[in-house]
Amino acid sequence: MEIKGKVALVTGAGQGIGKAIALKLATYGATVVTNDISGKAEETTIKIVKDGGKSMAIIADVSSVKDVERMIKEALEAYGQIDILVNNAGITIDSLLMRMEEDSWDKVLEIDLKSVFLCSRAIIRQMLRQRYGRIINIASIVGQVGNAGQTNYAAAKAGVIGFSRALAKEVAAKGITVNAIAPGFIETEMTKKLNDQQRQELAKNIPMGSLGSPEDVAGAVLFLASDTARYITGQVITVDGGMTCV
Ligand code: NAD
Repeated sequence: MEIKGKVALVTGAGQGIGKAIALKLATYGATVVTNDISGKAEETTIKIVKDGGKSMAIIADVSSVKDVERMIKEALEAYGQIDILVNNAGITIDSLLMRMEEDSWDKVLEIDLKSVFLCSRAIIRQMLRQRYGRIINIASIVGQVGNAGQTNYAAAKAGVIGFSRALAKEVAAKGITVNAIAPGFIETEMTKKLNDQQRQELAKNIPMGSLGSPEDVAGAVLFLASDTARYITGQVITVDGGMTCV
């Protein structure tokens, strides 16, 4: 899959799905700017460089407009272009609605949804100038089918899907595609909070019988980032082991 010579920016690339995406894109020849709110992005960059790739890390909070604008400026100063943006950073703060604090709602909406707006807005002029771009937003099946205890997260991820479809239509004629990926349950720190019983219950509802891996999601990102997916925009690719297939 051809992405050699492209420059990718992956948010939340310090661990889990974002790290797997950054490593995958680098393996296929992209220069990768790794972002995280913590220094963990640096570890991903060190691994990419050790494996012979090109990468830089930028610590930034993707829910802060100031941080996002600085991040895009630094990336463009370093590499002159950004061809692929993967909006991956995200958090969960779960609770039943009747107990949900306003702060839990605001934080999840800011980090999981507003960040997608901020990063896409900061990069879109450059992509329009390039007449080329791939924006790939990591949503969730929870944004499609809901999940008890996650009204904030479901609202944010459903928002990510709506945002992706709207922006896809806005920029389709300019060589820019915008798609979302909806992972099911993937083995990362985010799902480590599940106990064994919850895990077994979950697995029962997954036709493939187990949680997915970050690499499963990274493969779908690679496809959407490549020219093989040239004519695909405004879509959601579900990566969930068959959990929500109808
Ligand atoms: P994770 O918690 O393992 O990693 C998320 C990364 O994002 C962390 O490195 C964290 O430091 C970073 N991050 C958090 N807030 C940030 C901010 N404000 N600015 C920059 N970076 C920030 O989570 P994961 O499981 O790898 O999830 C990655 C994405 O995939 C998220 O958007 C998540 O909602 C989505 N997702 C995950 C699953 C799953 O089962 N793990 C399922 C569906 C969707």
